[in-house]
Parts: sequence; C-alpha cells; structure tokens
Amino acid sequence: MSATSVTGTSHERHGRYPQALTVEDFRRNLAAVQARIDAACRRVGRDPAGVRLLPVSKTKPEASLRLAHAAGCRLLGENKVQEAHHKWEAMQDLGDLRWSVIGHLQTNKAKLVARFASEFQALDSLRLAETLDRRLQLEGRTLDVFVQVNTSEEASKYGLAPDDVAAFIRELPRFPALRVRGLMTLALFSDDTERVRACFVRLRGLRDRLRQDAPDGIGLEELSMGMSGDFEIAIEEGATVVRVGQAIFGARDTPDSHYWPDAGDAVSAP
Ligand SMILES: *Cc1c(COP(=O)(O)O)cnc(C)c1O
Repeated sequence: MSATSVTGTSHERHGRYPQALTVEDFRRNLAAVQARIDAACRRVGRDPAGVRLLPVSKTKPEASLRLAHAAGCRLLGENKVQEAHHKWEAMQDLGDLRWSVIGHLQTNKAKLVARFASEFQALDSLRLAETLDRRLQLEGRTLDVFVQVNTSEEASKYGLAPDDVAAFIRELPRFPALRVRGLMTLALFSDDTERVRACFVRLRGLRDRLRQDAPDGIGLEELSMGMSGDFEIAIEEGATVVRVGQAIFGARDTPDSHYWPDAGDAVSAP
C-alpha cells in the first residue's frame, strides 16, 4: 500500500478548519469526513463498514456537542476525564449520548471513568487496569478498552513501548470488567508522511502478531489510529477506529502542544 499511495498528512492545516456553528455545519462536516473515509477504503479495497468514526469533542462547549448530537453523533471522544465527566453530567437529558475517554488517565481518576464512560482508549498500566476493574465492579459496569502503544517512541507520548505490549496483554484476563478491544496509537506529528505511516504500520504489525496467541476473551480486532490530519493514511494501513475532532467541530483554540508537549516541534521541523 505504502508504495502506491500519495495520501499526505495535513497537520499544518489545523488552523484552517472552520468552526461548526449549526446542525447543518455538523451534518456537512460529518458527511465530508465520511466521504474521505470511504475514498480511503476504496483505495485499498476495504469495506467502509469496517471503519468507525469517533468524533472528538474535547475543548468544545456543551452547545457545540448538542449540535453534534442533533446531527447524529451518539458517541463522543474526550481527552481529559474531568472535562468529559462534567459534560456527561450536563447532558444527561440526551439519554443516548455515550462517552469515549481517549487520553491518558491518572489512577486516582479511574473511579470517574468507571462511573460514566463506555470506552477507554488509553490503557497503559496494570495498576490502572486493576483500579478500573475494581471500580467498574463496584458500579456493576463494564468498559471497552484499548491498549495505548507509543509507536513513535517520543518521550512525550503516553503508551506502552511496543516490546512491552505482549506481556501486558497476557495479564489482562485478570480484569473481567475490562473488555479488551484492541490497540490505540497517536502517530508522530509530522508532515513527513512516510514517518507517520510507519507508526500505523507498526501498530498493525504488532496487533497481527499478538492476535495469534491472544489469551481467551481478549479481543484484538480493533486498531484505533488516525486523527484529522492523518486518518486517511491510518485507514490505508488498517485502522478500524479513527478519532476525528477538528475536521468535524472546527479548529481548537488550544494548540496540540497543550496535549502533547513536543507536538509543535515535530510539525514545524524542516
Ligand atoms: C484530540 C485528539 C484526537 C483528535 O485530534 P483532531 O486533530 O482534532 O482530529 C485524536 N486522538 C486523541 C488521543 C486526541 O487527544
């Protein structure tokens, strides 16, 4: 796939995503992203039904999330658990809105996630797995989880080193309230498409190897990879979940470096 594809990254275009201000804006943006997903699937002979779009609403106000809901979004991704929890509390009236926590979680905030999240995509320690499992059992809930892998090996990115994932996965059957779905990664923030693609290729290779002798009950079907600037490349390399914020909601005021300390450097590097 890599050799024939010309799909590029577009991190440099983040500032150009216009704000979505009406339900119509959300419908149009969702349709445009879905069309790009479909096209990326066609390029590599995949069925678009095998790619789930997770809209990411972090930093956006409640009013904006309500418009997204009105446009059909039923699962929203949030990077920070307290922000997600506040939004969950404020939007209880919607009834059918579910939450995916996609950012690093400190163990002392596991009880919040256990209370309201449907999905958690940044599992990266056994201590966190243990605390989440205990809290979930107290709540009588289960949680879909993705193991976060640091495929770019940047010190600032969270996630397990690729070499540590196999041993980590072997421990997970101890935590029955965690439903392990697959792996998640953030690629390098770079305009160098091939280095970005290499992160996705790495996650897929890891998943394919681990799947061969995954413990009973541990599903490793899912690959959560790709965001506004690089989701088409991720799909070409096997993504089953793409986490897209700005291309749906509009540009964020907060720079990416607020979330990933060296992101700005990687993007502006020559
Ligand atoms: C913010 C975020 C995204 C989405 O990024 P966009 O550039 O808004 O598409 C994806 N994944 C994670 C973990 C995030 O924190």
